[in-house]
Amino acid sequence: MLTRVPDYYEKFHCLAGACPHTCCEKWEVVIDEETACRYFAVPGPLGEKLRAVLQADEAGAFCFPLDGGRCPFLDGENLCEIHRKLGEDATSVTCREHPRFIEDYGPFQEITLSASCPAAGALLLGTEAPLTFAELETAEPGEAGDQWLAVLLPLRDRMLDILADRSVPLRRRLRDFLLLAREAQLALEEEREACLPALAETWQAPRDWRAAGESRLVSHGLRFLGTLEILDRDWPELLAQARTAAPVPQSEALLERIAVYFAFRYLLKTVNDGDLLSRAQLVAFAVLTVERLAAVCGLPEALRRFSCEIEHSSENLEALLWAFQWEEELSCGALLRELSAI
Ligand code: SF4
Repeated sequence: MLTRVPDYYEKFHCLAGACPHTCCEKWEVVIDEETACRYFAVPGPLGEKLRAVLQADEAGAFCFPLDGGRCPFLDGENLCEIHRKLGEDATSVTCREHPRFIEDYGPFQEITLSASCPAAGALLLGTEAPLTFAELETAEPGEAGDQWLAVLLPLRDRMLDILADRSVPLRRRLRDFLLLAREAQLALEEEREACLPALAETWQAPRDWRAAGESRLVSHGLRFLGTLEILDRDWPELLAQARTAAPVPQSEALLERIAVYFAFRYLLKTVNDGDLLSRAQLVAFAVLTVERLAAVCGLPEALRRFSCEIEHSSENLEALLWAFQWEEELSCGALLRELSAI
């Protein structure tokens, strides 16, 4: 099967015990059923500990509840006791896959490395070169995919090209990216999806187009983020500081890489529900929010925190996508006004 990955994918190595923000803290570790069944058969003291810690929630899903905010198998050197004593294959699917987000589309899959992981974030922001994607062949057989993939792929390619066009200022690229998404969304809603490849090929950015009116999108957005489920106790304080912080210019090339990271990760998921525009809004919103947070804590930390709070909480992600559709202050129009401001 063809697997598409970011160009730095093969360079990724987990920092393990040297990680300053280990993924074995703060998140409850979900244990897949197959791994849980194996844990019931592990002999000796480790087996006893595994069975004592393992819990099933109301829906029957297994997990390791945190102990003092940490995975109970994280030792004093920040290493995994299960990995150390039984090998990597004994860890759960969640632990083996993290920080990979794996999207299986049938005939191909796409993998991103979560920007919440410090090692993955350092690779994403470690160069100002354009972010590109590589294609690998794996032995796994592919399956038939949704028919929308054929029309969404060329559209996403064009949207990624718009984001990567360095002859145009980034804010204008984000504006054009949203305008194309808005037009494509209309076609999807009117069941004219067959026209998307032609739209992608022939679409022209309007000259000198600006959305009229004032925008307070970033401060509304920061306030809205504070109403969502919170992972890190000091996240609300960071959001509050960012609301009053004076913007600090950031590297356009790095912000572009952040935009391309989010666009690659989310746009094709439109195949699941037909909602392209909210996902395009997420891309622009993420760039503007991370840019503002960076004024308080620097760009790498701002991206890491945003990714932790939003990308690893399906509730938060869904709430944001809902708000982009239904909250005027976070609407596509508000984003376009923000991007039209000088
Ligand atoms: S956050 Fe990344 S580098 Fe740190 S322990 Fe997890 S996978 Fe490894």
